[in-house]
Amino acid sequence: MKHANISLFVPHQGCPHQCSFCNQKTISGSVKELTPEEIRATLEKAVNDRVDPENTEIAFFGGSFTAIKRDYMISLLEEAKPFVENGSFCGIRISTRPDAINEDVLEILKNYKVTSIELGAQSTDEQVLLLNHRGHTRDDIIKASRLIKAKGFSLGLQMMTGLLGDTPGKSLKTAEDIISLKPDTVRIYPTIVLEGTYLGELYKKGEYEPQTVEEAVDVCAELLQRFHEENITVIRLGLHSGGNVEEGFLAGPYHPAFGELCESKIYLEKAKEILTEKYPVENKNICSLSKKKQIILYVNDREISKMTGQKSVNKIALKRAGWEVSVKGMKTLEKYEVIVQER
Ligand code: SF4
Repeated sequence: MKHANISLFVPHQGCPHQCSFCNQKTISGSVKELTPEEIRATLEKAVNDRVDPENTEIAFFGGSFTAIKRDYMISLLEEAKPFVENGSFCGIRISTRPDAINEDVLEILKNYKVTSIELGAQSTDEQVLLLNHRGHTRDDIIKASRLIKAKGFSLGLQMMTGLLGDTPGKSLKTAEDIISLKPDTVRIYPTIVLEGTYLGELYKKGEYEPQTVEEAVDVCAELLQRFHEENITVIRLGLHSGGNVEEGFLAGPYHPAFGELCESKIYLEKAKEILTEKYPVENKNICSLSKKKQIILYVNDREISKMTGQKSVNKIALKRAGWEVSVKGMKTLEKYEVIVQER
């Protein structure tokens, strides 16, 4: 059964900084302070709508949950906790900053049935953290991650690509650092330029250029594949549509099907690798075999559309490179596995 979250947004509550890219009011579509009454009403509605209790978490997203005023944080958790105790949900998930984690706060979270903690790491490059006004260090990420795991919580780490001062190489290094921390889940967000942010100001002055969709797809596909190789689940790739993102959007690689574009890219590269080895293309013409026989790319049944690409973009790219292929499904294949046969 698929995991689900009942999301409750705590916009900008507890943030000691405004990070260069962040306007939580825009991202969450919410500007009001979340009240305990709203939490109760949202959770009761979810129970009435018969969410699957074993696979649904209550999720406090959007701010720096453990940096908000302690009394307020506890008042929110007090509303949520009984719903976990009575079996309506399987746990509570929070997102917070790496420098807002310590033994004391983890003790409180444990007592209130919090099960998963997501840290906004964003980058492990000190310069990128500094340039983007994160207000924490690489060391904070490492210490907080280790402590969260040592106390038995599920650990989620979020990273971004295309931040001010970032490069594809730095993003890949961040991914390797994240892998070494062994998180249970990862979220990857290509940087989007929003109104009301520092990056927005720089962009308008021509001092910051966001990634294009193609650049972001190239690097995020590589990251996705690395996490997949290490059995780390990427639970989000790209921003959710909805909220007010479209409204506050200034520039950047925002695409409603960003994750699918990245997965298609992985399949394209795999297919190219295999085809290059098996059927080398001579003189940039259609490879000799394509003229006589049909090349079939097999992928898992559920992955056919990703191998083919949106509007057949992968098939077209392969044809331009010299291979005319058709795509078929084979139930026994793993995700991202591609085999080639000829007929
Ligand atoms: S800590 Fe998180 S919520 Fe707060 S400003 Fe930075 S990115 Fe936004």
